[in-house]
Amino acid sequence: MAESEYQTVIGLEVHAELDTASKIYCGCGTAFGGEENTQVCPVCAGLPGVLPALNRRAVEFCVMAGLALGCEINTYSRQDRKHYFYPDLPKAFQTSQFDLPLCRGGYVDIEAGGQAKRIQLTRIHIEEDAGKLIHGPAGTRVDYNRCGVPLIEIVTEPDFSNAGEVYAFLEALREILLYSGVSNCRMEEGSLRCDINLSIHREGEPLGTRTEMKNLNSFSAAKAAVEYEEKRQRQVLAQGGRITQATLRWDDARGLNYVMRSKEDADEYFYFPEPDIMPIALSAAEIQAIGARLPELPQARRRRYRETLGLSDYDARLLTSAKAFSDLLDEAVALGAPAKLCANFIMGDITRLLGEAGLPPERLPFGGAALAELTALIAQGDLSNSMGSKVVESLFAPACAGQSPKEIVAAKGLSQVSDQAALQAMCRQVIEENPQVAADYRGGKTKAIAALVGQVMKLSRGKANPALVNQILADLLA
Ligand SMILES: [Zn+2]
Repeated sequence: MAESEYQTVIGLEVHAELDTASKIYCGCGTAFGGEENTQVCPVCAGLPGVLPALNRRAVEFCVMAGLALGCEINTYSRQDRKHYFYPDLPKAFQTSQFDLPLCRGGYVDIEAGGQAKRIQLTRIHIEEDAGKLIHGPAGTRVDYNRCGVPLIEIVTEPDFSNAGEVYAFLEALREILLYSGVSNCRMEEGSLRCDINLSIHREGEPLGTRTEMKNLNSFSAAKAAVEYEEKRQRQVLAQGGRITQATLRWDDARGLNYVMRSKEDADEYFYFPEPDIMPIALSAAEIQAIGARLPELPQARRRRYRETLGLSDYDARLLTSAKAFSDLLDEAVALGAPAKLCANFIMGDITRLLGEAGLPPERLPFGGAALAELTALIAQGDLSNSMGSKVVESLFAPACAGQSPKEIVAAKGLSQVSDQAALQAMCRQVIEENPQVAADYRGGKTKAIAALVGQVMKLSRGKANPALVNQILADLLA
């Protein structure tokens, strides 16, 4: 049987760490990278006799994520204990949600391989993270700092058919969670990670036996693991073998999956309702109030940029690639700035200078008001585009901290020369110094004027108004 006759079916379970200040059932902090076992108390260490208290913010963030992803929010939901034994879980059960999750349904629209596709979600629920095992030469230590850090688990329907779709989904999901402000989605800190279920079958036949790949912590690892497992299963079946149910772990360094354990079913977790935490009841008004805190999401912003601001699809995508960029544009445009000019500065000088300074977009040292003032100076003809770049450079310079574009232009003498007399003098000088070019132009090579304009710009150190220079040169050479 040829490998190509098989179809791949993939479903994901994505865990996103919620960006709350404290853990889900106690007041311990959630900061990443603290010294081992310094963010632990009797509650998150699972000591007997303690009582958990649910972090309201974690519930709100889960609802926000659900609303951003088009889910139905359950007005009544409950927490359950999921039992398993592992040294990183001191309670020997994880408090999660089983049959009454906070959110049901929902979807993420993706584009992969030039095709638009809607990936349906099954549910989103809240749960707690486990601790971390640290393996060393002297043995294994356990760090409980992550124990009780709030997570949401986003479960998809088995809607994916290849690695490209998985990658596109993770990117789109990350973008929505970042815009919603519920998770910082830092994959290198484990804030976003996913489990992947994969099976293959022939068209028209029942689904195949699936394997589960655990804890993929980068988009590229998820893609590589899917490609590897898809190929492996095809080869096993092609050779007449059988797929056995297994939990796998991806080894990024070696580029392969290895078997962690052979079988795992929901009934082995002995789920039962958490008796120490009240069910979560939310009124429609409460859900609405939480939803009102959601900002405009990236897809809606891209549509608005195309349809209302007249920007290209390419520009709209780049501008929404970071919420800070999109917010900057919106702030400047709200102050009357021309959208395209702002977009050019954001995607050009601002992106370049952030890169050189090693700063993320959120740490941009100025806001939309400065960008609006800068673009207004250019639109009014008081500043050339190239001088505008110099102003942006100054806005990044510590020496100019707190200065507005107008103040920088005044202090550095960057203002564009539109004075007719001054420009005419410069144009005459350039024509005199370049007799051959002038002769070429007069002889019919009209493109030669560009060289003269360039010379005048150089002479004025970039301050001349190029449109005006062009006009004066043409008049003088006529
Ligand atoms: Zn604690």
